[in-house]
Amino acid sequence: MTSNSLLSEAVCISIQGCKIHLRSPNVTGLIHHPYTPPAGFNAPQPGVFKASTVYFPTVADMRRREWKDKSAYTYGLHGTPTTYQLEERLCTLEGGLQCVLVPSGLAALALVALSVLQTGDEVLIPDNAYGPNKALAEAELRHFGISHQFYDPTDVHDLSRKIGPQTRLVWLEAPGSVSMEFPDLPEMVRRCKAQGVLTALDNTWGAGLAFSAFDLLGDGAGGQGSLAVDISAHALTKYPSGGGDVLMGSVITRDAALHLKIKLCHMRLGLGVAANDAETVLRSLPSIAVRYAAHDQTARALASWWQAQPQCAQLLHPAFEGAPGHAHWQAVCNRTPGAGLAAGLFSVMIDARFSQAQVDAFCDALELFKIGFSWGGPVSLVVPYELASMRQAWPAHLKAGTLVRFSTGLESAQDLILDLHQAVQAHLPMA
Ligand SMILES: *Cc1c(COP(=O)(O)O)cnc(C)c1O
Repeated sequence: MTSNSLLSEAVCISIQGCKIHLRSPNVTGLIHHPYTPPAGFNAPQPGVFKASTVYFPTVADMRRREWKDKSAYTYGLHGTPTTYQLEERLCTLEGGLQCVLVPSGLAALALVALSVLQTGDEVLIPDNAYGPNKALAEAELRHFGISHQFYDPTDVHDLSRKIGPQTRLVWLEAPGSVSMEFPDLPEMVRRCKAQGVLTALDNTWGAGLAFSAFDLLGDGAGGQGSLAVDISAHALTKYPSGGGDVLMGSVITRDAALHLKIKLCHMRLGLGVAANDAETVLRSLPSIAVRYAAHDQTARALASWWQAQPQCAQLLHPAFEGAPGHAHWQAVCNRTPGAGLAAGLFSVMIDARFSQAQVDAFCDALELFKIGFSWGGPVSLVVPYELASMRQAWPAHLKAGTLVRFSTGLESAQDLILDLHQAVQAHLPMA
């Protein structure tokens, strides 16, 4: 049939006095088309399935519908072949068994909180945590009668002391994504487990590559007996996406009952992800390990350069000797010395002799580094932070100064160093 004939067969009928124009009897044929492509198509990338509605063969099938175990499909919000595949691949990346996708990294943090906390509960959050996670507790969780305390990420005793009868959940972040202190993750998890408190790790920095959230000591492959967090939340926006163009998050577990709790909350909140976004992450995932290693190498080259500059009062990169939490990074990420990975992220405390305005001018003068939030994409980014307003008190382990965070992209390290050099020369004079 030619496309012309679709429009040519207009007829008009009258049913019970109502005139119905059948402009094209074949519109129905277009929608309920009999053609099905042959099965067995195979290509590097999985297909993209887009759906709100999903068909059931019969009413009985619809009534029997089961969506919790990925054995079938019920509604786009509850999963499609595209989202199921992304979930399974992320489980492989992180060593988890169950995964839930959400529309952003922050939504992953919020979903964890709303899934496991109720009125009267308390959540503990490291003082160097991703800022919006602290804001979530301060503004939203508080409204539900859920209290919070911030603990010192460099002090396991402070965490222990703060765990009380109301404490239900402890957030961990390794390292904190602005001041970059790496915590004693194994010991913190041990103490939480000993007190029966759930642990959730914001795993965005490690991305499932620098260390395993479900096998912190590297001795159990996540199985029985290995030291593991209960929940890993990951901003897929960063390294899994790798493009600076997608927002997504995941919540991964190794416990069916805990997963079901999260999955039910996820369903009730209606936190679906778009198929094209899932496809973008699926397309980037195969290259995540090589990208991560490249970001890491470039960041270390830049951090080494900064270390030699008199403008740098303190280098904050957990893989560098002397940085806060370096020994903990060694223990968790670098069990085979020299092999350890780190994300392409570090901060520099610019000497206190320079004003905020000078540091801002330095950032503005950078040409390759763009000013912007997030990380994990191809373009290097810079953000000066007002750390004093982000912490309960100025941490004793941080020198005075202005903190500038760098996220390295995939440009050549040499070009990035030349860019840093020209901006330092122009705006941070030592004389
Ligand atoms: C970016 C980020 C998030 C939030 O991710 P979004 O997708 O931007 O909401 C959470 N935690 C950390 C550590 C992050 O860097």
